[in-house]
Amino acid sequence: MAKEKLEDLEWTNLGFKYRDLPYSFQAVYKDGVWQEGGLTEDSTIVLSEAAQVLHYGQEVFEGLKAYRWKDGSLHLFRPEENAARLRRSAERMSMAPYPEDKFVEACKEVVKANADFVPPYGSGGTLYLRPFLIGSEPIVGVDAAQEYIFRIYATPVGAYINGLHPAAYMVSAYDRAAHAGTGRAKTSGNYAASLYPHELAKKLGYADALYLDPREHKYVDEFGGANFFGITKEGNFVTPKSVSVLPSITKKSLLVVAQDLGLNPQEVRIPFDEVDDLVEAGAMGTAAVISPVGSLTYNDEKHVFYSETEAGPITTKLYETLTGIQNGDLPDTHNWTVPVE
Ligand SMILES: *Cc1c(COP(=O)(O)O)cnc(C)c1O
Repeated sequence: MAKEKLEDLEWTNLGFKYRDLPYSFQAVYKDGVWQEGGLTEDSTIVLSEAAQVLHYGQEVFEGLKAYRWKDGSLHLFRPEENAARLRRSAERMSMAPYPEDKFVEACKEVVKANADFVPPYGSGGTLYLRPFLIGSEPIVGVDAAQEYIFRIYATPVGAYINGLHPAAYMVSAYDRAAHAGTGRAKTSGNYAASLYPHELAKKLGYADALYLDPREHKYVDEFGGANFFGITKEGNFVTPKSVSVLPSITKKSLLVVAQDLGLNPQEVRIPFDEVDDLVEAGAMGTAAVISPVGSLTYNDEKHVFYSETEAGPITTKLYETLTGIQNGDLPDTHNWTVPVE
């Protein structure tokens, strides 16, 4: 695949797709140690046909963004949280975790090396980083690999969904992860399991599937790649407490922003039977930050939140506050942004 040319990019029309940038980062784990990693211009990975990841699925990943501020400086948002989550995901999947301090340094290196490709301030675009870890050892019997590759690629992306437009979602009869399974790990297998329900939802005209708790199918869990929140009639921010939900860093941040805004945030079990008590709802994740949920359809019954065409006022306030901090337009009172120097 040919390298992306800077002059071919339209900053305000990037979409969310892979572009082959000049540099990626790679480090290799072998003989029980992580070898010194570094930048590479090769955007391919050569693997044995028997590599663990190709058969038994040892893969964990992260997603975070680099933002260009008004003064031209580049910043990451809470990258140490991604470093810690990659470690926890790796532990759940019996993989050699990549050192957290080295993770943050490697993210900075990739941003600096591809700095020309960080979209300009005000374009809505960011440089998306995809750190990931795979079991690379050739293996036939079922076992954890003894060799791993840690890699980060970068690609410029536009605002995931331009503006705050509510979408219609359906509640899935399938599960993305088991009750005591891998739902808390950011691992490819959970996504593989979500593709069929996702396509089914698409075919029926919905943006995506919402999953219920896998044990009882009674409580709200999350979407395939984003956590769920609601605003109660009393004006409180609520988000599901569940062992099978991926701990979103956007969620973790919005819980604090909601506190700052006086929304009394709570992580609680949310019975689907009680979703009509919510006056606004949304999906949270790095890609879109917040996507307002216009409606949820379950067993042919449609539940509408605020409006199917317009984002609610609290959803809008949460979105503007968090993106304001990320873009350097609002004071970063919690020290979440990390300059890339
Ligand atoms: C990555 C992910 C999220 C969002 O997490 P962020 O840290 O906010 O990007 C939510 N749910 C699932 C299943 C995910 O994989």
